Amino acid sequence: RELPADLETRNMVRQVEGALFSLVSPTPPAGVPYLISYSSQVAQLVGLDPTECERPEFPLLMSGAAPLPGSRSYAASYGGHQFGVWAGQLGDGRAITLGEVVNPVSGQRWELQLKGAGKTPYSRRADGRAVLRSSLREYVCSEAMAALGVPTTRALSLVGTGEPVLRDMFYNGNARWEPGAVVCRVAPSFVRFGSFQLPVTRGAGEVGLVKLAADWLMKYHYPELAASPQPYLALLREVIHRTGRLVADWQALGFVHGVLNTDNMSILGLTIDYGPFGFLDKFDPDWTPNLTDASGRRYSYRNQPEAVQFNLIMLGNALLAADLVTREGAEEALGEYSKVLSNLYNARMAAKLGLHEYDMALSHELMRLMYDDDADFTNTFRALCSVSSLDEEGEQQQQQPGSSGSESRPGSGSPGLPAALSASLNGGQPLRPERVAAWRQWLQAYRASLRADGVPDAQRQAAQRAVCPKFIPRQHLLQWAIEAAEKGDYSELEALMEVLERPYDEQPDAPAKYSSLPPEEMVRPGICMLSCSS
Ligand code: AMP
Ligand code: MG
Ligand code: MG
Repeated sequence: RELPADLETRNMVRQVEGALFSLVSPTPPAGVPYLISYSSQVAQLVGLDPTECERPEFPLLMSGAAPLPGSRSYAASYGGHQFGVWAGQLGDGRAITLGEVVNPVSGQRWELQLKGAGKTPYSRRADGRAVLRSSLREYVCSEAMAALGVPTTRALSLVGTGEPVLRDMFYNGNARWEPGAVVCRVAPSFVRFGSFQLPVTRGAGEVGLVKLAADWLMKYHYPELAASPQPYLALLREVIHRTGRLVADWQALGFVHGVLNTDNMSILGLTIDYGPFGFLDKFDPDWTPNLTDASGRRYSYRNQPEAVQFNLIMLGNALLAADLVTREGAEEALGEYSKVLSNLYNARMAAKLGLHEYDMALSHELMRLMYDDDADFTNTFRALCSVSSLDEEGEQQQQQPGSSGSESRPGSGSPGLPAALSASLNGGQPLRPERVAAWRQWLQAYRASLRADGVPDAQRQAAQRAVCPKFIPRQHLLQWAIEAAEKGDYSELEALMEVLERPYDEQPDAPAKYSSLPPEEMVRPGICMLSCSS
């Protein structure tokens, strides 16, 4: 931020022309790589026996210290609209693809990519490295999202490089040396919207690359579309539909990506490039975890659907400029985005409330109450899974001292509301009587809807718990795991990963901290709000 504004033009960014990728090898780190964690599930996906991840050469391969036999590694070229502005060539500045493996049993193809394994032709002024802090966040959240049922890139391993990395701390302006790390990311493909955008900005000579990329994509990832009368339009439509589904998932879970630039949009409809992401704690639709975006809030919770629509339009423009689709066709397909998104979002919200049909008034009123009373997004929905359709049993219980169990702290909670619900409101502190009355009124309407549906409570509640997670990777949980890991203690990380593997299960033995509200001292810049500097 303090660099002169014209530095970018004085120091030219090297352009890689006429290519979709550049062959490049990882730069072995200066230190001795060490294993921090691996995912047995992802190991199995790529056809590895998980015990192989414990062999001494594994951290060497997964940090780029030793070459993977048979691999021809590369960095991809792509551009992107960053915060609505065309940024030109970006590319994999610190991600290097080792290659693809085909799982011998499932036949699925998986691309293995090291993030933080050194410079590439796309690194610009940056170092090609990644720090433990951000790598751990990506590693944990990728796997948590998969367990939550959200389409996402996966993470096979988290390896420390033994090489310190210098980073500016945006929130206090200090620079600090941090432990370096590499995540091995895994996905069928990491191709982005921006991969299709860049060639069309370089004139007629490169437009053919868009078709080349689209044909490759169709051959390996959308083979069912090749036979359709307008295959490229079918491709655009399928990307639009998958992306709409993805955004519905994000909104239903309160996930905020934080940097929805077109270079961070997967052409397979996966959540990709975990940076300053976050989950809503206190329900505030204007919240963004990205400090860099705090003034504009372009990528806030509320604005994600529209930001993604803009990105889809940019993708449509690229295919149009390459003459692969017609304007009418692209416009019609793009028009389907908001329908897909709102249908799925409504269905997910209905399911979260345990109702057959989406009730807009009831949902909006709930959001209003949640906003007014600083409701924890995740815990409020989880608390509603325990509401009885019949009577006000929960409220009565709450009025008897000591009957609220582990849900509320001593002296906290609002008499008249179910214990779990009141624990998720207003930081667990009692509400004013008029606020309690407002919630009780909503609960009354909610119960009437539940009774109208007529599903037995036990059955409804079980279905509801299967879509309202109890455990999400909250910023402060990640922070605790980071602080311990930076001291060489990975037990917090492992315990967190284990809890997040079954986010919808009650897990009564899991310590309360995994589903508690963030402690006051953890709600501050650097923990709950982050920047891209990682
Ligand atoms: P992001 O906002 O993290 O998706 O990154 C935007 C662009 O900056 C991408 O092209 C990245 O590859 C690149 N980039 C981010 N951090 C680094 C780094 N430390 N070294 C090289 N390139 C980077
Ligand atoms: Mg990116
Ligand atoms: Mg990134």
